[in-house]
Amino acid sequence: MAQKRLAILGSTGSIGTQALAIVDAHPQLFSVEILSAHSNAALLIEQAGKYQPNAVVVTDAKAYETVKQALSGSNVKVFEGHNALNEVVQWDTVDFVLGAIVGYAGLHSTLSAIEAGKTIGLANKETLVVAGELVMQKAAEKRVPIIPVDSEHSAIFQCLAGERMDTIEKIILTASGGPFLGKKPNFLVNVKKAHALQHPNWSMGAKISIDSATLMNKGLEMIEAKWLFGLQNEQIEVVIHPQSIVHSLVQFTDGSIKAQMGLPDMKLPIQYAMAFPQRIHNDFPRFQFKNYGTLNFEDPDIKTFRNLQLATQAMYKSGNMPCILNAANEVVVNAFINNKVGFLEMSDIIEQTMEQLPFIEKPNMEELIASDTEARAYAEQLLQNNDY
Ligand code: NAD
Ligand code: MG
Repeated sequence: MAQKRLAILGSTGSIGTQALAIVDAHPQLFSVEILSAHSNAALLIEQAGKYQPNAVVVTDAKAYETVKQALSGSNVKVFEGHNALNEVVQWDTVDFVLGAIVGYAGLHSTLSAIEAGKTIGLANKETLVVAGELVMQKAAEKRVPIIPVDSEHSAIFQCLAGERMDTIEKIILTASGGPFLGKKPNFLVNVKKAHALQHPNWSMGAKISIDSATLMNKGLEMIEAKWLFGLQNEQIEVVIHPQSIVHSLVQFTDGSIKAQMGLPDMKLPIQYAMAFPQRIHNDFPRFQFKNYGTLNFEDPDIKTFRNLQLATQAMYKSGNMPCILNAANEVVVNAFINNKVGFLEMSDIIEQTMEQLPFIEKPNMEELIASDTEARAYAEQLLQNNDY
C-alpha cells in the first residue's frame, strides 16, 4: 500500500487523537499532511511538533494566535478559520481526509474535500444528518468513496463487502443504551452532566457522550445510515445491546444475517477506514467469547428516551427536518453541558423547534444553512425565555 497523506480534521478530539495513534503504529502507511483543531492550542502545538504536518488550521481566533506564535520558527504553516480549512483539504498533497470535527461545524470542510475528489473517512455523522442527500449526490458525482468511521456504520460497511446493495432487506443498528439504560423519567429528571458523560463502554467527546445518554446518537445514526447506504426508512432498525460487542448487522433478502463483532474500541473502525481497502494488523486486545457469558438484545424505550423518537420522525419527514433536529440538539446539548437545561427538557426544546420551523421538502444547501441558523436561534430563545 502506498503511503497515504492524511488531513485529520479535529485532530485534538477523541477520534482525532486515536487516528494519530494509528499513524504511530503504522508510520510506513500513513503520514500527516494537515491537522486542525478549534480551541485546544496546547495539544495542537504538541501534535504539530511531533508529526511535522505541512499545515495546521485553527478555527478559534484566540487559539490561532497562540498556535501561530508557538510554531513561528517551524516549517509548519498555520492558518485560521473555516475558509482555510475548506482550502487545505483540497491540496494536491492530501490523499485522505478524516472528518473528525464534532457537529455541524464539520459539514463544509467535508463537502469541500469531496468537491476536490478526496477519499473521506467520515466520523462526523452530523454532516450526513444535516445534508446527507446533497453530500452523497456530490460524492457520487465526484466518484468519491465515503468510508464510515462510526462503529455501527463501519460494521455495516464491512458486512456489505462482496454483497449487492439491492440484496439488503434491512439493517439493525445496535445501541448500548448509554449510562441510563433502564432508567425512567422520574430518575432522569435529576441527572447531571457528570453522570451523563460516563458511558459504560466507550470513551468519547462530550457531545456524543450526551447524545448516547439521550439516545439521540442512535437517531442521528439512523439518518446517517439512510444516506450512507441508500436505504428506505423502513429498512432501518435499532436494537439495544448493552455489551457493545455486536457493532451492527445486515439482514439480506434470503433472511441471512451478517454481524460484525469485536471489543468496543473506536481505533478499529478508524483504522479500517484509514487503511481501506486493505485490512491491516494491530495489537489491540481480542474479543473472547468465554469472557462474555451472554450477549443481550432488547427494544429501545422510546417513550422515555424521546430523542430517538424525534430523530426517527425527522428521518421519515426528511427535507430540512433532520437539519432542524440537529441544530436544536446541538444547542440543548451545549446548554446541558453548561447546566442550563435539564436532561428531559432537551427533548421538549427539540420537539418545539421541529414543530415551529418552516418545513422545506427539497432544501438546497443555502436553505439548509438558513434552517440551521434559524433552528439554533429558535432553540436558544426557548432556553432563554424558559419557555418549553
Ligand atoms: P471531540 O469533542 O472529542 O473532538 C472534536 C474535534 O473537533 C476537536 O479536535 C475540536 O477541536 C474540533 N472542533 C470542535 N468544534 C469545532 C468547530 N466549531 N470548528 C472546527 N473544529 C471544531 O469529538 P469526538 O468525540 O472526537 O467526535 C468527533 C465526531 O466523530 C463527532 O461527529 C462524533 O459524533 C463522531 N464520532 C465519535 C466517536 C467517538 O468515539 N468519539 C464515535 C463515533 C462517531
Ligand atoms: Mg456510533
